[in-house]
Amino acid sequence: MQTYDAIVIGVGGMGSAAVYHLARRGARVLGLEQFDIPHERGSSHGVNRIIRLAYFEHPSYVPLLRRSYELWRDIENLAGERLLIITGSVDAGLPSSETVKGALLACNLHHLPHDVLDAAALRRRFPGYRLADGMIAVHQPDGGFLLSERAIVAYVAAAQDIGAEVRAREPVVGWEATGGQVEVRTVRETYRAARLVITAGPWASKLVPGLVGLARPERQVLIWAQPLRPEYFRLGAFPVCNLRAPDGHFYAFPVYGVPGFKLGRYHHRHEATDADHVDREIHPEDEAVLREGIRRYFPDADGPTMAMKTCLFTNSPDEHFILDRHPEHANVAIAAGFSGHGFKFCSVVGEIMTELALDGESRHDLSLFRMQRFA
Ligand SMILES: Cc1cc2nc3c(=O)[nH]c(=O)nc-3n(C[C@H](O)[C@H](O)[C@H](O)COP(=O)(O)OP(=O)(O)OC[C@H]3O[C@@H](n4cnc5c(N)ncnc54)[C@H](O)[C@@H]3O)c2cc1C
Repeated sequence: MQTYDAIVIGVGGMGSAAVYHLARRGARVLGLEQFDIPHERGSSHGVNRIIRLAYFEHPSYVPLLRRSYELWRDIENLAGERLLIITGSVDAGLPSSETVKGALLACNLHHLPHDVLDAAALRRRFPGYRLADGMIAVHQPDGGFLLSERAIVAYVAAAQDIGAEVRAREPVVGWEATGGQVEVRTVRETYRAARLVITAGPWASKLVPGLVGLARPERQVLIWAQPLRPEYFRLGAFPVCNLRAPDGHFYAFPVYGVPGFKLGRYHHRHEATDADHVDREIHPEDEAVLREGIRRYFPDADGPTMAMKTCLFTNSPDEHFILDRHPEHANVAIAAGFSGHGFKFCSVVGEIMTELALDGESRHDLSLFRMQRFA
């Protein structure tokens, strides 16, 4: 049986970074992925993901974000490829909305440079935006987006360069922890390691039964629409956006990489799903929900559809992450429940998983992310 210092189950966003950080610490590491690297059946595809510092979800994410930015720049340098593109970020809504209040709280607590703009001022500066009356926007210059699939490729390539082994198209069918060791069974072989990291995204609860109800997959849909005024939605003209409106919480990107202005709605149509049985067809109702957001808040982007894709969130009950050691097995580390806002943290989660696996604890404050909070 082949033996490793650490095995990582799931080589998507989080797992690719974990494989790399483990290898950098000198561990002999094996990453196991059920599909291709990268692929379009999990949570990390669709060209790009927003990164922002004005973190409305909770200000205690900001120190992790600062480390994420640093680590993204490190992997960019290693890969010799642009992975993080700064556009500035806009968090908009009514002044009483969680998005605006939370973004301002993070900015004020962490002394982040920012401007507050009303609907007219935002439109003068970034004409693609058409906020409703009474809405305001927090503009923070450090926001931007990550090229998510390229980031996975970069981490896997960098990990392989320093000796990590990665096997794709090899689903894990079970694992057992006994006597300080872990045995991982795939459709091909059984492997042994001293430590295990589980970064299985929407499949997490299939590998860790304790995560049933704590890491619930949800179907999402994205649209790319051809702008009617392309100059408003170019890189440089349109900061990435989170907009909390009465009809939903929309997020959007400047045109990049593929044709069209990209927009999604958080929790899309609130469709819980099973990661192995996702409805990947696009229905008229899917487009209607997204078109409504474009028409109301970005009407100059309301041209023909260029593409639509399904994707998966994995929601925890409080929508904060789960970054912890397994409750029964101290040598098993788990990253799960990223609740639709995890990608920007992949770089630092790779570091955290490595520390939990190799050192038993992390230098980062994980008190918001313990599995025990749901006990
Ligand atoms: C539409 C959409 C928009 C989003 N927008 C943003 C955003 O703008 N900013 C942001 O920060 N985040 C965003 N997110 C969230 C972010 O993309 C996710 O939090 C992140 O991609 C999760 O990464 P992951 O590694 O947990 O999952 P994945 O990348 O899906 O990786 C999990 C991997 O584990 C593998 N796996 C599972 N089970 C097994 C098994 N038994 N054997 C082998 N391999 C296995 C899977 O095949 C998969 O490759 C968005 C998500 C979606 C769906």
